[in-house]
Amino acid sequence: MLAPLLLAASRSGRMRRLAGSTPMTRPVVDRFVAGETLADALTAVHSLTRHGIDVTLDHLGEDVTDAVRARATRDAYLRLLEALGPEGLGGRAEVSVKLSAFGQTLPGGHDIALAAARTVCEAADAIGTTVTLDMEDHTTVDSTLAILAELRRDHPRTGAVLQAYLFRTEDDVRSLVGRGSRVRLVKGAYKEPPSVAHQDGHEVDRAYVRCLRVLMAGDGYPMIGSHDPRLIAIARELADRNDRARDSYEVQMLYGIRDAEQRRLVAEEGLRVRAYVPYGADWYGYFMRRIAERPANLTFFLRSFTTR
Ligand code: FAD
Repeated sequence: MLAPLLLAASRSGRMRRLAGSTPMTRPVVDRFVAGETLADALTAVHSLTRHGIDVTLDHLGEDVTDAVRARATRDAYLRLLEALGPEGLGGRAEVSVKLSAFGQTLPGGHDIALAAARTVCEAADAIGTTVTLDMEDHTTVDSTLAILAELRRDHPRTGAVLQAYLFRTEDDVRSLVGRGSRVRLVKGAYKEPPSVAHQDGHEVDRAYVRCLRVLMAGDGYPMIGSHDPRLIAIARELADRNDRARDSYEVQMLYGIRDAEQRRLVAEEGLRVRAYVPYGADWYGYFMRRIAERPANLTFFLRSFTTR
């Protein structure tokens, strides 16, 4: 009951302004967000890579409503990639982008977002790393997959995210299992109507496993984007069944969630693990989706408004 309300709040401009103006929310936000600056992001990257965990960095922002902010987001990614190069982290740190932050939903936004993503892919290539396109609400999926196909012509390692809760995803997975294809499979984090997405958690899990079977049997590079121990166990079983080498797939988790398990999977199980590290000032939408996934987190968040 609570999750849909929280997801609706994640898109409210008023709530965004209220949360942003309350400094006491900061410690709660810090659990899920590496900080506001590029330097904060690099500190998180060093700490994770020291533990053998690779990273994908997200400069926070989404749903931009003007071209100036879209260009600013693109430029923030260019600065990030410029900073990662000399650190010698090109091989271990990639970037994740939300095309809505590049202007995808503006008039003519498909081409604006494609041009910005192309520039970021070129900068990523230059330091030996790659880009993954995050997936947002269902209205953007066609445009995002079309942009992916364009980008992969020149940058074949560009990755995509597919959301198991969408009915269409089983078909999308089948079209992205070829050699070189990099797909992060997630359950899905947006509020979607019953006409397009499973609403029941068990149905989502079952759909996730069906998609996983196809990905693990394919020739691409599956990225298991989940904290769910059952799904990770199934992924490993499928990897064995398909004779996959340990470096032919990876598990991805979000910064601040199941940290100890991320380290254990690397140190004790020898798995390749990547943490998704968000940073930047525009944390509200991302943060609210994390709250909606686990409403117990809400208690800590609300307490931050009342404790002074
Ligand atoms: P769940 O069943 O939700 O969680 C399993 C367990 O993980 C929980 O029992 C709990 O112990 C822990 N856990 C999970 N979430 C939280 C939390 N917020 N706080 C504390 N503990 C938690 N979604 C998209 O729609 N588009 C994307 O592009 C996208 N990218 C992602 C990238 C990565 C690397 C990951 C890991 C997730 C991404 N997601 C994305 C979010 C995803 O869709 C799910 O909403 C999220 O991962 C929760 O699902 P779960 O598979 O972890 O399973």
